[in-house]
Amino acid sequence: MKGSVSYDAIIVGSGAGGAAAAYRLTLRGLKVLLLEKGAPLPRDGRTLDIERVVASGEFLSREPWLDGDGRRFAPDEHFNVGGKTKWYGAAVLRFSAAEFAADEARGYRGWPIGHEDLEPYYAQAEELLGVRIFDCEPDLRRILDDLGRIDPHWQSTPLPLALSPQIGGHAIEARRFDGFASAAGLKGDAETSFLSALTVRPNFSMIGEAVVVQLLPSSSSALRVAGVRLADGREFFAEHVVLAAGALHSPRLLEGYLARQGIGRELPCATSIGRHLKMHLLTAMISVSAGRKTDLLRKTMLTTHRDFPHSSVQALGFDAELIGRLVPRWVPRRLAGEIGRRAYGFFLQTEDSSHPDNRVRNTEIPTLDYRRARMPAAFAEHRAFTRALRRDLLRCGFLSFTQPIGLNGTAHVCGTLLAGADPSCSVVNAEGAVHGMTGLYVVDGSVLPRSSRVNPSLTIFAWALRVAEKLGEEPSALASFPAAEETVA
Ligand SMILES: Cc1cc2nc3c(=O)[nH]c(=O)nc-3n(C[C@H](O)[C@H](O)[C@H](O)COP(=O)(O)OP(=O)(O)OC[C@H]3O[C@@H](n4cnc5c(N)ncnc54)[C@H](O)[C@@H]3O)c2cc1C
Repeated sequence: MKGSVSYDAIIVGSGAGGAAAAYRLTLRGLKVLLLEKGAPLPRDGRTLDIERVVASGEFLSREPWLDGDGRRFAPDEHFNVGGKTKWYGAAVLRFSAAEFAADEARGYRGWPIGHEDLEPYYAQAEELLGVRIFDCEPDLRRILDDLGRIDPHWQSTPLPLALSPQIGGHAIEARRFDGFASAAGLKGDAETSFLSALTVRPNFSMIGEAVVVQLLPSSSSALRVAGVRLADGREFFAEHVVLAAGALHSPRLLEGYLARQGIGRELPCATSIGRHLKMHLLTAMISVSAGRKTDLLRKTMLTTHRDFPHSSVQALGFDAELIGRLVPRWVPRRLAGEIGRRAYGFFLQTEDSSHPDNRVRNTEIPTLDYRRARMPAAFAEHRAFTRALRRDLLRCGFLSFTQPIGLNGTAHVCGTLLAGADPSCSVVNAEGAVHGMTGLYVVDGSVLPRSSRVNPSLTIFAWALRVAEKLGEEPSALASFPAAEETVA
C-alpha cells in the first residue's frame, strides 16, 4: 500500500529531537511529515494523577525487552506525542565546554563538534522552551546552606527550568511537573513549545499512532533511504528521512534496514549501530528530618562537589503525598504520610562510560544489554558521591534512604547511533547524516557521544535544531511554500 504524497522530510518520532527538527524544517519551508507511534496525551488531569501515573503506570509502554542475560523486563518508555519530554522534569541544562571533549581514561568519547557549534542552538532551544530560573525555596535553601557549611566544596547554582512563570499559581501542576505531564500546558516540552506552533502551517502534517517498522530504499540504491513503512502497511516517501524515535528504537530501525538490504558489510559505521549505550548512573535519595517541609516546586537548584567532577544532584520535584506513596508498603500508611511531609527527595546522576558492549540489539524481542561492571571508574564515582551526600545530609540532620535506578530507568538513554568524524567508530557525522548513506539523518538522543553530568534534553533539542538548519540546503519543494520565517505568527 503506497501513500500518495511525497515529502521533503519524514521525521520518525515526536520527542525532543523529532519536534525540534520538525519545527526548524517546517519554518524553513520544507514539506514535513511527522510520524509518531503514540497518541496525544489527555488534557483532563489524568496525567497528574499519582494513582494512574505512578501506581499503575498507565502511561508507560509495556513492550517486553530482554536484558543481557535474556531475562524479560519492560523499560520505562513513553510512546505519546511529545515523547518523554511530556513527562520530563523540565531541568534543561547546557553541557559544559569540557564535556564535548574525549576523556579516554574514563571511557568518554569526544563530540565531532564543540560547545561553540551548539551554542546558538542552545540559545534558540532555551527561548522556545521558555527556560527560566525560579527562587530557591526556604526548606531547600536551609539544606543547601547547611551542606555548604559542612563542606564548602558542595556548590549550588540555580537550575534552569522549562516551566511557565504562572505555574506557582496552579498548586497541583507545581507539585507534579517532575514525572507527570502538564494538563494546562505549563511545561515547555516538545509538543507545547515546538509542535503546537506548527499545526497552522500548510507544509506540516503529523500522523499519530503511526508505528514506523521499516525504512525503505530508493529505487536506485540501497545506500539511499527514500521512505518508511508503517505497521499497517502504509508507505511514505521523502527526500530526507530523519530518525527521532529515541535511543532504544532508532538504532533498531537502522540495523533492520541494513540487514534486509544486505549492505552492512559495505558500511564501516554498521559495526557501531546500537553500541555505546549510555543512560547515566542514577540514584534517587529520600532524606527525612524532624521538621515538616513546605516547599512547592522544590527542584530549583543544581548541586555539585569538587571531588566528583562527573556527578551532580538536583532535588526531585516530588511533594509530600508522592514521597509518602514511595515509602515501602510494610510501613503503616499514616506513618508513611508523616515521613512524606518531613522528607525531601534528591536525584543523583553520574556520567557513565561509553562501552561498545553496552548496547541495544534488534533481536525478535529487543535486547538491552547494559552492565555497570563495564564502567568501574564511573560506578566508583557514583557510589562515593552518593555516600558523601548521604553522610553530609546526616550531619545536617537528615536520615537518607537510597534507591539506585535499575535497567528499566531508561529516561536518559542515549549514545546508540553516536556522532563522530570517523565512520569506523561512529554512525552519524557532525551534520547528523549517517556515514556512507544518503537521505538518512538522526536527531534524537542516540547521537550523544557524551551525556555530561546533567540531564540531556536541552542538548538533544539543540542538536536537532542544528541538523535541521543545515539539512538538504536546497530542497526541491522550497519554492512551493512561503519564504522561511524565523517566528510563527
Ligand atoms: C520521567 C522523566 C524525567 C525526565 N527528566 C528530565 C529532565 O528534567 N531534564 C532533561 O533534560 N531530561 C529529562 N528526561 C529525559 C528526556 O525526556 C529525554 O532525554 C528526551 O525526551 C529524549 O529525546 P528523544 O528525542 O531522544 O526521545 P523521546 O523524547 O523519547 O522521543 C521519541 C519519540 O519517538 C516515538 N517513537 C518510538 N518508536 C517509534 C516508531 N517506531 N515509529 C514512530 N514513532 C516512534 C516515541 O513514541 C516518542 O514520542 C526525563 C525523562 C523521563 C522519562
